[in-house]
Amino acid sequence: MKRSHQNLRNCCLLSICFFFFLGDLQADSFKEEVDSLIARLRSLRNTDVQYERKSDWSRLSSRFQTMLKTMPMGDSKSRAMFHYAVVEREIGERAQDSEKLRLSAELFEKMSTADTQHELADDALHSAYLIYRDLLHEEASVARIKNDFSDVFPRSELIFLLDTNEAGVEGKRRHSSQKNRGDSEKPLIFLDPGHGGEDEGAVGVSGIREKDLVLTLAKLVEKELIKSGCCRVALSREYDAFIPLFERTALANRLGAELFVSLHVNAHEENAAKARGFEVYYVSNESNPKAIELVSRENRQMQETQGFGVQTFLSELYWRGAIEISKPFAHKMYSTLRKKLPKESDGMEIVGRGVHSAPFFVLFGAEMPAVLLELFFATHPDDAFLLSTPQFRNQLAQAIVQGIQEELTE
Ligand SMILES: [Zn+2]
Repeated sequence: MKRSHQNLRNCCLLSICFFFFLGDLQADSFKEEVDSLIARLRSLRNTDVQYERKSDWSRLSSRFQTMLKTMPMGDSKSRAMFHYAVVEREIGERAQDSEKLRLSAELFEKMSTADTQHELADDALHSAYLIYRDLLHEEASVARIKNDFSDVFPRSELIFLLDTNEAGVEGKRRHSSQKNRGDSEKPLIFLDPGHGGEDEGAVGVSGIREKDLVLTLAKLVEKELIKSGCCRVALSREYDAFIPLFERTALANRLGAELFVSLHVNAHEENAAKARGFEVYYVSNESNPKAIELVSRENRQMQETQGFGVQTFLSELYWRGAIEISKPFAHKMYSTLRKKLPKESDGMEIVGRGVHSAPFFVLFGAEMPAVLLELFFATHPDDAFLLSTPQFRNQLAQAIVQGIQEELTE
């Protein structure tokens, strides 16, 4: 009796294990398909701004829809739901179809409540919020989400973005408007908070995300620049939105910006305990082996969509010109940051890693001095702590402002 009991128990355990194993296998088999649909979505977003490939969009929408019907709960399903909502929003924006937009907002909300622990859950609720606020103008839904957000996601950085202004002048592309518009004599500084939307950038200690950190920093820099009265400011994105890389420099060129500053936070998975500090980059068509990993991460958005080589479409003349104007700015920015930032803060060392050059897509085609700042490592506990401290963020923003002002007075 006892023995058969034991057997039964083993049998149950085995089938439970088998069940989980099967569950894992199923989830994994979906993972590949979800990844490939996400890559297709990014490609469409990057290349079909005008909504010319309607059938590709609707095929993508139905593939997400069909797949979701048979998926078990889990990471792949949550990611699929999130990106299905993105597809519906993109179609809704392009076709100016409010039914699609409403469906998208509902899907985002559904995803955020179905899996509140998922890393995209707060993004999902924030995305629903933005659709209700900027695209559907539904005050009641805006108020409802705003009211609930901090209860559901008390640790989300996105809480601070709920009060930021409405989408900029270009509506659906969500670029910022220029600040101090009347003061057209003043030089325009273009700030580019890296990543955004479903492109999270680096994810670090206790889940801090590059896309949120750099947006917060860009807003601080913007505030300080406007306060100083030195210049006008434009941002590539005002809030958590996906903007294709090439659109960022294109907009800066179109606005006639004097300087281009792209803000990023670094990460090092394998050497998380050691790699830390800030560094300044300018664009070049060469890169040292150390920079290659970083470049491939920062360029990921384009590589997934375009798949072309770095050197193929810009002339030697372009590279020489870009290096000539950007290299001195990069050095000036670095030495200002080093000078203005303390040697340590809260007992933690502030490490400077120097000036480097690398082929970052986001700097390609800029017609003005352009730098990319890698502001500390989200994966290092001390750096992550510094970045989460309001006092240090302010110091950092002020140092960047100083670097910009010194380049302007040159
Ligand atoms: Zn980045």
